[in-house]
Parts: sequence; structure tokens; C-alpha cells
Amino acid sequence: MGADRFTMGVDVGSTASKCLILKDGREIVSSAAIPAGTGTSGPGRAVAAALGEAGLAREDMAFVVATGYGRNTFKEADAVVSELSCHAVGAHAAFPEARTVIDIGGQDAKVLRLGADGKLENFVMNDKCAAGTGRFLEVMARVLELDVSELEAHDAAAKSAVSISSTCTVFAESEVISQLAANADIDAVVAGIHDSVAVRTASLVRRLGLLEPVAMTGGVAMNGGVRRALEQALGVKLLVSPLCQLNGAYGAALWGWNKIKE
Ligand code: ADP
Repeated sequence: MGADRFTMGVDVGSTASKCLILKDGREIVSSAAIPAGTGTSGPGRAVAAALGEAGLAREDMAFVVATGYGRNTFKEADAVVSELSCHAVGAHAAFPEARTVIDIGGQDAKVLRLGADGKLENFVMNDKCAAGTGRFLEVMARVLELDVSELEAHDAAAKSAVSISSTCTVFAESEVISQLAANADIDAVVAGIHDSVAVRTASLVRRLGLLEPVAMTGGVAMNGGVRRALEQALGVKLLVSPLCQLNGAYGAALWGWNKIKE
């Protein structure tokens, strides 16, 4: 039996940097997500953290693949692969049955259609407007003096949801501020924020057509409030892995494995 072969996926995102190390294309040996994206120390820190956790060095990697919005800024990669390809590979590995993948990151939202074999058949994307992305949630969390990780609990406690009619992040922020000035319940405001993200995402999904089963990936999939609102808006149960934010890095590491196997 030959020595273990490790591949690394590095997802240089707009908002967060993710790194994942795979052994022989099967076993995830370590991973890291650092809340600092392209143009920051984030990518280097994510790589160092994943290598450190695995007790490995860059030289131990048989193949390193960079992906994500800032993929071309990561110079230590053996290959640079588009986000869409990596997300498709990662999501198909996590959920082989998934035919639709909703990925919401810090700066964009994408919906991917996969064939039964996992091949990317079609996609739609919103990368023009912050509404319906992680950035929208970050802006709203800041107004509410909350961390994005705290939004889920407020959503779960909500007995109702305020309606946020604006589709523009800046106007929606003003709406939230006026709700707060009118003493609206914070939980209901948070639920309204999540409903607003879900409405935007559902319209993106409908442009492609809803084909089940549906998986959700990206950092925003960690927010149970968005998952709740999206499941209601689409009328489906979402497949979500604990590695949802690492999906692009996972797909990149798998892409590297498939490459060296050839
Ligand atoms: P990108 O790849 O564009 O950098 P990610 O897929 O990493 O983006 O997602 C970043 C987004 O994930 C943030 O904007 C934020 O809304 C969300 N997020 C990050 N951490 C958490 C958390 N602990 N709980 C809920 N949401 C989170």
C-alpha cells in the first residue's frame, strides 16, 4: 500500500477564507474557516490552521486547489478552479441525491442545477445586489448590535415576523431602524430579516426551477433562521451539512484528488 496522499482545497471568499485537507480523496483530516476574506491575512491563516490541526506541512500536500472569489490571489495553488465547479463537486459528494444547490455566501447567492451524476447543468446567480446575501445579514446584525451567529436564536424565539418591504439593503436598513424606533420586538425583526432573504432567494430558485432534493451551502446556511424562512418560502426540506461553509473548499480538495488520480 502506498503512502497517504493529501489534497488541499482553499476557498478564498469575499468574506471568509476556508481550507480543507482530504486524505486519499475520502477522509477529511482537518479544516478551518477564518472570518476574513480575499485581500486579508485570512487565506494564509486558514491554510496554517488546517495544516496545524492535521500536523502536516505544505510539502505533504500532493495537490492544492484554490477556488472562491479571490482564488486568483492565492499563489501557492497547483490549480485554480471556478467556484461553481467546486461547489457542484462538494455538494454532490455530501448529498449525491441533491439536484438543486443553493449557495449563499458573503457577497453573492447562487443556485446550481445538478444532473443525477452531479454534473453542473445550469445555474443562476445574484452578485449585483447585497440583498439576499450574507452582507445583508451582517448589515442588519450590526444595526441590532448582534453577531450573525446570534440571529438564529432570535428567529427561533420569534412569535411573529415584521414585514420588510424594501428590496434594497440600504432602505431595508432604514426600515429596521424605524422598526426599532417604534419599539418592535427584536425577535420579530430578526425573523422579518430572514424572511426577506428567503423571498429574494426563492425568486432566484424559481428562475432556475425548483427540482428536489435541495441542498443549501455557504456560510449563510449556518443560520438556522434563514434555513427556516427558506424552507417555508420554498415548501421543501433543505439538506444541510455541518460543513456547509466549507463546501467550496471540500469540492476543491476533491477536485485535486480526482486530478492526481488520473
Ligand atoms: P464567502 O465565501 O463569500 O466569503 P461564506 O460562504 O463564507 O462567504 O459566508 C459568509 C457569510 O456567512 C457571512 O456573511 C455571514 O452572514 C454568514 N456566517 C458566517 N459565520 C456565521 C455563523 N457562525 N452563523 C451564522 N452565519 C454565519
